[in-house]
Amino acid sequence: MTARDTLLVLHDLRVHFETERGIARAVDGVDLTLYRGERFGLVGESGSGKSTLLLSLLRMIREPGRIVAGSAHLEGTDLLQLDEETMRQTRLQRVAMIPQGAMNSLNPVMRVGEQIRLAITEHDEGSVADERIDDLLRRVGLPAATSGLYPHELSGGMKQRVCIAMAISLSPQLILADEPTSALDVVVQRRIMQTLAGLQNELGATVLLVGHDMGLMAQSVERLGIMYGGNIVEVGTVEEIFAAPKHPYTRQLIDSIPVFGERRDFRPIPGGAMSLLEPPTGCYFHPRCPEVMDRCRALAPDLRDTAEDHQVACWLHHQDSIDV
Ligand code: SF4
Repeated sequence: MTARDTLLVLHDLRVHFETERGIARAVDGVDLTLYRGERFGLVGESGSGKSTLLLSLLRMIREPGRIVAGSAHLEGTDLLQLDEETMRQTRLQRVAMIPQGAMNSLNPVMRVGEQIRLAITEHDEGSVADERIDDLLRRVGLPAATSGLYPHELSGGMKQRVCIAMAISLSPQLILADEPTSALDVVVQRRIMQTLAGLQNELGATVLLVGHDMGLMAQSVERLGIMYGGNIVEVGTVEEIFAAPKHPYTRQLIDSIPVFGERRDFRPIPGGAMSLLEPPTGCYFHPRCPEVMDRCRALAPDLRDTAEDHQVACWLHHQDSIDV
């Protein structure tokens, strides 16, 4: 494998929500490295912490949530230590977000072109020429005339493309995408993911894509991280993860993907989602794990290399694990 250029390094990132019932550990000590120009997917059930992790990189966690520990170095700059003004400039210029559900993120009473102009001027100095907005719209596959339309005059796919145009407007190095196509049909989904991949190549940017659809992820990214209970439990290339998944949760996620033409019952992952307020002892997955051992109930496994570009947090794959 050729040496890759590191773009983002997360270390022990923790985001807690202080509620009346206790502290919910939404992101619970995440370590992750992203490389320049790659498409990385983060998959997990609802409540696994993936969207919270994205918001923490933009420092947009709302009360009662709080980033309580860790670091997030983007090309050596810790995003979590920037002052508010520098962070404001960093958003869109260096790190941009394509939100979930374009419907709710566009202003219904403002024309598309004005919304793009406003997004740019909020994060950059100077005026924005009409030609620049037209060019952005063309790059995301929309006619320049879209600029004069209101959101209600656009289809769901077109609205999502407008959000992508805003996200790439200042050529960020890191594009965060939170289930950007979840409300769209599969054909539109695929076309939008192709547009995003083309733009990413053009910019040389890194894309961090969050979702729960393993099938869509397999077609859209090069590496995958699997999140469970606020932690990353497996990381690897899409080929490795699908050919030889190591963590029992990853295996169950892959088994739950419907296979075209195969008649079989839907296979949900057994057991309920984990309580973030009262997480289990040891490995958070142990109450649902078909391969649980005694040590799993007592000790949490850390994320370790098992092969080149493949890490897993599971006692089944830690050779030097100790018996308790
Ligand atoms: Fe299952 Fe134990 Fe591995 Fe956790 S550490 S996933 S409980 S085998």
